[in-house]
Amino acid sequence: MRLRNIPGAREAIGVSEYVIPEERECAGKWSELFGNGQSLHIEIGTGKGRFITELAAQHPEVNYVGIEKYSSVLLKAMHKVEENSISNVLFMRMDAEHILRYFEKNEVERIYLNFSDPWPKERHAKRRLVSREFLDRYRILLKQGGHLEFKTDNRDLFDFGVGQTEIARWEIMEITYDLHNDERMNAGNIMTEYEERFSAKGNPICKYIIRPKD
Ligand code: SAM
Repeated sequence: MRLRNIPGAREAIGVSEYVIPEERECAGKWSELFGNGQSLHIEIGTGKGRFITELAAQHPEVNYVGIEKYSSVLLKAMHKVEENSISNVLFMRMDAEHILRYFEKNEVERIYLNFSDPWPKERHAKRRLVSREFLDRYRILLKQGGHLEFKTDNRDLFDFGVGQTEIARWEIMEITYDLHNDERMNAGNIMTEYEERFSAKGNPICKYIIRPKD
């Protein structure tokens, strides 16, 4: 994501009712924070927020948390949710590396990863959000029967992710290497900002849905 620092972004998200401050105790308390016991789905690397905003509008019966590392990007996502008066989305500005501090064991029902940063250098492989290290974290916070959905146009990252599922003992439930031409898997697909940009260039979009094996 091209990052333009927006002056005041950090302060604006700091006072928004849609953004949970990093220092807030929220593990095990998401139902309290939303004010209801609906199931919890999270998106990691939310970016400018189109995906989570549209998804949340379609599914008022689900609570969504968008996690994004950068204030300037999160600000845009926050504005989308505010403008559409959506009440089932909250955000956190944080590095997903620390995700286990903010969600309790078995608290999350679904995880979305969309066009995650590829970290192409081998020495940075652990930072990839589909790495074994991240899958081990997701396994803890996912509820029994929960799953993870990942989309990208980056074939190297996708192949890496597929390989990591085996190593981390996850099961592939569904997979496609050309989402937009896969009628079944594409049904109800919500395009992200990156998805629109890269599919317009003719890049096929890969997607998998996976769950922990045991
Ligand atoms: N998901 C959006 C989309 O598909 O349009 C944005 C994709 S952009 C390539 C990746 C986003 O993930 C960026 O906004 C980046 O700041 C965020 N990100 C990357 N690593 C992250 C991490 N470890 N924790 C939280 N956010 C992260």
